[in-house]
Amino acid sequence: MNILFFGPNGSGKGTQGAILKDKYNLPHIESGAIFRENIKGGTELGAKAKEYIDKGDLVPDEITIPMILDRLQQDDCKDGWLLDGFPRNKTQAIKLDESLKEANIELDIVVEIILDREIAKNRIMGRRLCANDNNHPNNIFIDVIKPDGDKCRVCGGDLSERADDQDEDAIGKRHNIYYDADTGTLASSYYFKDLAAKEGKIKYMTLDGAPSVKDVTAELISKL
Ligand code: AMP
Repeated sequence: MNILFFGPNGSGKGTQGAILKDKYNLPHIESGAIFRENIKGGTELGAKAKEYIDKGDLVPDEITIPMILDRLQQDDCKDGWLLDGFPRNKTQAIKLDESLKEANIELDIVVEIILDREIAKNRIMGRRLCANDNNHPNNIFIDVIKPDGDKCRVCGGDLSERADDQDEDAIGKRHNIYYDADTGTLASSYYFKDLAAKEGKIKYMTLDGAPSVKDVTAELISKL
Protein backbone atom coordinates (compact mmCIF):
# COMPACT_ATOMS: atom_id res chain seq x y z
CA MET A 1 0.00 0.00 0.00
CA ASN A 2 1.48 3.36 -1.07
CA ILE A 3 -0.10 6.41 0.50
CA LEU A 4 0.38 10.15 0.13
CA PHE A 5 -0.79 12.35 2.95
CA PHE A 6 -1.61 16.07 2.57
CA GLY A 7 -2.79 18.58 5.13
CA PRO A 8 -1.75 22.04 6.30
CA ASN A 9 0.81 22.22 9.08
CA GLY A 10 -1.24 21.83 12.23
CA SER A 11 -4.06 19.78 10.68
CA GLY A 12 -3.26 16.60 12.63
CA LYS A 13 -1.57 15.03 9.64
CA GLY A 14 1.17 13.51 11.81
CA THR A 15 -1.35 12.02 14.26
CA GLN A 16 -3.60 10.55 11.57
CA GLY A 17 -0.57 9.44 9.56
CA ALA A 18 0.66 7.43 12.55
CA ILE A 19 -2.70 5.62 12.61
CA LEU A 20 -2.39 4.66 8.93
CA LYS A 21 1.20 3.63 9.46
CA ASP A 22 0.16 1.20 12.21
CA LYS A 23 -2.91 -0.08 10.36
CA TYR A 24 -0.94 -1.01 7.25
CA ASN A 25 2.44 -1.52 8.96
CA LEU A 26 4.13 1.00 6.69
CA PRO A 27 7.30 3.05 7.05
CA HIS A 28 6.19 6.63 7.75
CA ILE A 29 8.40 8.88 5.67
CA GLU A 30 8.18 12.47 6.84
CA SER A 31 10.35 14.92 4.96
CA GLY A 32 10.36 17.42 7.85
CA ALA A 33 11.39 14.70 10.33
CA ILE A 34 14.25 13.59 8.07
CA PHE A 35 15.52 17.17 8.00
CA ARG A 36 15.19 17.48 11.79
CA GLU A 37 17.13 14.22 12.33
CA ASN A 38 19.89 15.56 10.10
CA ILE A 39 19.98 18.85 11.97
CA LYS A 40 20.18 16.99 15.29
CA GLY A 41 22.92 14.71 13.93
CA GLY A 42 24.95 17.69 12.71
CA THR A 43 25.11 16.43 9.09
CA GLU A 44 25.93 18.58 6.07
CA LEU A 45 22.36 18.11 4.81
CA GLY A 46 21.05 19.29 8.18
CA ALA A 47 23.21 22.42 8.13
CA LYS A 48 21.98 23.30 4.63
CA ALA A 49 18.33 22.65 5.48
CA LYS A 50 18.31 24.51 8.79
CA GLU A 51 18.59 28.01 7.35
CA TYR A 52 15.45 27.46 5.26
CA ILE A 53 13.48 25.60 7.92
CA ASP A 54 14.07 28.25 10.58
CA LYS A 55 12.59 30.89 8.27
CA GLY A 56 9.62 28.77 7.24
CA ASP A 57 10.90 28.50 3.66
CA LEU A 58 10.97 25.31 1.64
CA VAL A 59 14.32 23.57 1.48
CA PRO A 60 15.32 23.83 -2.22
CA ASP A 61 14.05 21.14 -4.57
CA GLU A 62 17.65 20.17 -5.57
CA ILE A 63 18.15 18.95 -2.00
CA THR A 64 14.66 17.68 -1.12
CA ILE A 65 13.62 15.79 -4.26
CA PRO A 66 16.64 13.41 -4.43
CA MET A 67 16.54 12.95 -0.67
CA ILE A 68 12.95 11.65 -0.78
CA LEU A 69 13.23 9.71 -4.03
CA ASP A 70 16.32 7.94 -2.61
CA ARG A 71 14.49 7.21 0.64
CA LEU A 72 11.67 5.53 -1.31
CA GLN A 73 14.21 3.18 -2.90
CA GLN A 74 15.31 1.76 0.43
CA ASP A 75 14.51 -1.82 1.37
CA ASP A 76 11.85 -1.04 3.96
CA CYS A 77 9.77 0.70 1.26
CA LYS A 78 9.49 -2.36 -0.98
CA ASP A 79 6.07 -3.33 0.37
CA GLY A 80 4.67 0.15 0.67
CA TRP A 81 5.10 3.52 2.31
CA LEU A 82 3.29 6.45 3.77
CA LEU A 83 4.72 9.71 2.49
CA ASP A 84 4.01 12.84 4.52
CA GLY A 85 5.30 16.36 3.86
CA PHE A 86 6.32 15.60 0.29
CA PRO A 87 5.42 16.70 -2.34
CA ARG A 88 5.02 20.27 -1.19
CA ASN A 89 4.96 22.07 -4.54
CA LYS A 90 3.96 21.22 -8.07
CA THR A 91 7.52 20.52 -9.23
CA GLN A 92 7.93 17.93 -6.49
CA ALA A 93 4.55 16.38 -7.41
CA ILE A 94 5.52 16.01 -11.06
CA LYS A 95 8.93 14.54 -10.17
CA LEU A 96 7.35 12.07 -7.75
CA ASP A 97 4.76 11.00 -10.31
CA GLU A 98 7.45 10.55 -12.98
CA SER A 99 9.72 8.59 -10.72
CA LEU A 100 6.92 6.27 -9.52
CA LYS A 101 5.87 5.60 -13.12
CA GLU A 102 9.48 4.91 -14.08
CA ALA A 103 9.79 2.40 -11.26
CA ASN A 104 6.35 0.87 -11.99
CA ILE A 105 5.12 1.75 -8.55
CA GLU A 106 1.44 2.55 -8.14
CA LEU A 107 0.10 5.11 -5.77
CA ASP A 108 -2.94 3.64 -3.98
CA ILE A 109 -4.38 6.32 -1.73
CA VAL A 110 -4.10 10.09 -1.41
CA VAL A 111 -5.52 11.67 1.74
CA GLU A 112 -6.13 15.41 1.93
CA ILE A 113 -7.03 16.89 5.32
CA ILE A 114 -8.99 20.11 4.92
CA LEU A 115 -8.65 22.68 7.70
CA ASP A 116 -9.17 26.41 8.07
CA ARG A 117 -5.92 28.36 8.23
CA GLU A 118 -6.58 30.11 11.56
CA ILE A 119 -7.44 26.85 13.37
CA ALA A 120 -4.32 25.24 11.92
CA LYS A 121 -2.16 28.11 13.20
CA ASN A 122 -3.44 27.74 16.78
CA ARG A 123 -2.88 24.03 16.69
CA ILE A 124 0.72 24.50 15.54
CA MET A 125 1.49 26.91 18.34
CA GLY A 126 0.08 24.48 20.92
CA ARG A 127 1.85 21.33 19.88
CA ARG A 128 4.71 19.82 21.85
CA LEU A 129 7.24 17.20 20.79
CA CYS A 130 8.01 14.15 22.94
CA ALA A 131 11.73 13.39 23.32
CA ASN A 132 10.99 9.63 23.01
CA ASP A 133 8.69 9.66 19.99
CA ASN A 134 7.68 12.61 17.83
CA ASN A 135 4.44 10.82 16.96
CA HIS A 136 3.17 10.90 20.54
CA PRO A 137 0.40 13.48 20.22
CA ASN A 138 0.66 16.39 22.69
CA ASN A 139 -1.04 19.76 22.24
CA ILE A 140 -1.69 22.28 24.98
CA PHE A 141 -4.72 23.68 23.08
CA ILE A 142 -6.49 20.35 22.41
CA ASP A 143 -8.13 18.76 25.43
CA VAL A 144 -7.92 15.11 24.37
CA ILE A 145 -4.19 15.31 23.72
CA LYS A 146 -3.21 17.77 26.43
CA PRO A 147 0.20 16.91 27.94
CA ASP A 148 0.41 15.62 31.47
CA GLY A 149 1.75 18.83 33.02
CA ASP A 150 5.01 19.42 31.16
CA LYS A 151 5.42 15.71 30.29
CA CYS A 152 4.28 13.57 27.35
CA ARG A 153 0.74 12.27 27.88
CA VAL A 154 1.66 8.89 26.31
CA CYS A 155 4.99 7.99 27.92
CA GLY A 156 5.87 10.75 30.39
CA GLY A 157 8.85 11.82 28.25
CA ASP A 158 10.21 15.35 28.21
CA LEU A 159 8.45 17.75 25.87
CA SER A 160 9.85 20.52 23.72
CA GLU A 161 8.59 23.04 21.18
CA ARG A 162 9.77 23.27 17.61
CA ALA A 163 11.37 26.69 17.10
CA ASP A 164 9.54 27.10 13.78
CA ASP A 165 6.22 26.39 15.56
CA GLN A 166 6.46 29.45 17.78
CA ASP A 167 7.35 31.98 15.10
CA GLU A 168 4.19 33.51 13.62
CA ASP A 169 5.99 34.80 10.51
CA ALA A 170 7.43 31.36 9.81
CA ILE A 171 4.00 29.76 10.32
CA GLY A 172 2.47 32.31 7.95
CA LYS A 173 5.06 31.47 5.30
CA ARG A 174 4.50 27.72 5.71
CA HIS A 175 0.77 28.23 5.33
CA ASN A 176 1.20 30.51 2.31
CA ILE A 177 3.06 27.63 0.68
CA TYR A 178 0.46 25.05 1.73
CA TYR A 179 -2.67 26.96 0.68
CA ASP A 180 -1.22 28.05 -2.69
CA ALA A 181 -3.35 26.11 -5.17
CA ASP A 182 -1.38 27.33 -8.22
CA THR A 183 2.17 26.21 -7.44
CA GLY A 184 2.23 25.23 -3.75
CA THR A 185 1.19 22.19 -1.77
CA LEU A 186 -2.50 22.32 -2.66
CA ALA A 187 -1.41 22.45 -6.30
CA SER A 188 0.54 19.24 -5.78
CA SER A 189 -2.38 17.62 -4.00
CA TYR A 190 -4.72 18.64 -6.85
CA TYR A 191 -2.19 17.28 -9.32
CA PHE A 192 -2.83 13.82 -7.83
CA LYS A 193 -6.56 14.49 -7.60
CA ASP A 194 -6.58 15.07 -11.37
CA LEU A 195 -4.56 11.90 -11.91
CA ALA A 196 -7.03 9.97 -9.74
CA ALA A 197 -9.90 11.26 -11.90
CA LYS A 198 -8.05 10.52 -15.16
CA GLU A 199 -6.37 7.21 -14.41
CA GLY A 200 -8.89 5.77 -11.98
CA LYS A 201 -6.33 3.74 -9.99
CA ILE A 202 -5.67 6.19 -7.18
CA LYS A 203 -8.26 6.58 -4.41
CA TYR A 204 -8.36 10.28 -3.46
CA MET A 205 -10.11 11.09 -0.19
CA THR A 206 -10.70 14.27 1.75
CA LEU A 207 -11.07 14.50 5.52
CA ASP A 208 -12.51 17.38 7.50
CA GLY A 209 -9.72 18.21 9.97
CA ALA A 210 -11.84 20.43 12.25
CA PRO A 211 -13.46 17.80 14.53
CA SER A 212 -11.60 16.11 17.40
CA VAL A 213 -8.67 13.80 16.71
CA LYS A 214 -10.90 10.79 17.52
CA ASP A 215 -13.62 11.90 15.09
CA VAL A 216 -11.15 12.59 12.29
CA THR A 217 -9.67 9.13 12.86
CA ALA A 218 -13.16 7.58 12.70
CA GLU A 219 -13.83 9.34 9.39
CA LEU A 220 -10.46 8.23 8.05
CA ILE A 221 -11.02 4.59 9.00
CA SER A 222 -14.55 4.59 7.58
CA LYS A 223 -13.31 5.91 4.23
CA LEU A 224 -10.41 3.50 3.78
P1 AMP B 1 7.23 19.80 8.57
O1 AMP B 1 7.77 18.99 9.69
O2 AMP B 1 6.52 18.98 7.54
O3 AMP B 1 6.41 20.98 9.04
O4 AMP B 1 8.51 20.43 7.81
C1 AMP B 1 9.38 21.31 8.46
C2 AMP B 1 10.16 22.10 7.44
O5 AMP B 1 11.00 21.22 6.67
C3 AMP B 1 9.33 22.85 6.41
O6 AMP B 1 8.83 24.10 6.89
C4 AMP B 1 10.35 23.04 5.28
O7 AMP B 1 11.29 24.05 5.59
C5 AMP B 1 11.10 21.69 5.33
N1 AMP B 1 10.46 20.72 4.44
C6 AMP B 1 9.74 19.63 4.79
N2 AMP B 1 9.29 18.98 3.71
C7 AMP B 1 9.71 19.67 2.63
C8 AMP B 1 9.54 19.53 1.23
N3 AMP B 1 8.82 18.53 0.71
N4 AMP B 1 10.14 20.44 0.42
C9 AMP B 1 10.88 21.44 0.93
N5 AMP B 1 11.05 21.67 2.23
C10 AMP B 1 10.47 20.79 3.09
